[in-house]
Amino acid sequence: MKKINFNKAQYTNSSVSCKTYPQDLGHEVAIVGRSNVGKSSLINKLTGYKRLAKVSKTPGRTQCINFFDIENENIVDYPLRLVDLPGYGYAAVHASVQEKWDSMMAEYLTKRKSLKGLLLIIDIRHLLKKLDLELLTFAKQINVPIHLILNKSDKLSKNKIHQSESKLRKELKAQIGDLQQNNISVQVFSASNGSGVLELEDLLCSWLLP
Ligand code: GDP
Repeated sequence: MKKINFNKAQYTNSSVSCKTYPQDLGHEVAIVGRSNVGKSSLINKLTGYKRLAKVSKTPGRTQCINFFDIENENIVDYPLRLVDLPGYGYAAVHASVQEKWDSMMAEYLTKRKSLKGLLLIIDIRHLLKKLDLELLTFAKQINVPIHLILNKSDKLSKNKIHQSESKLRKELKAQIGDLQQNNISVQVFSASNGSGVLELEDLLCSWLLP
């Protein structure tokens, strides 16, 4: 199986509108989740390149769509990208900010032809929130596969991890329907100790490499 060297990632662009996105060529995977679930930590763990997430935390860029190119060793001139979508669910966000976020996300998710899948990160201890479910429903409507990452598993015992994962799978089935039919997969992860990183790399390779 072909592999991607995720260490060869570099910041490309921050956009709030499709007018400034990088050219819509190649394949990309977008990462989304509530603020504080560990989105930046996952990107750091995957790429081993701490400055990437720092870039997306730069004030003014946290509410942007941040694009990172990954060197494609398999096919020249075929861009591979990770896309850091702005975190949602800030406690005291103003309705107008929420509206801007909604339209920016809808624009990206519906227009971007290179988008091959979404990583939705949640905290394994908290399970699904309303906005997570809205995103899952939207992804289903536009037919984009979603890989759900249950992050911060290092905070739980093996037993509790297993319990949380089964509870979540049941909830997903009840709210969305059969996972396979709806193109939803689930994995346990820890950005702190790296558990699950190989499984994630395999999934990303299967989405990104044509
Ligand atoms: P973001 O807002 O989603 O980008 O979240 P960050 O990556 O900034 O992480 C938020 C907080 O959670 C930070 O204090 C991280 O150190 C912590 N964190 C992120 N991932 C993990 C994890 O897997 N395990 C633990 N224990 N803490 C984590």
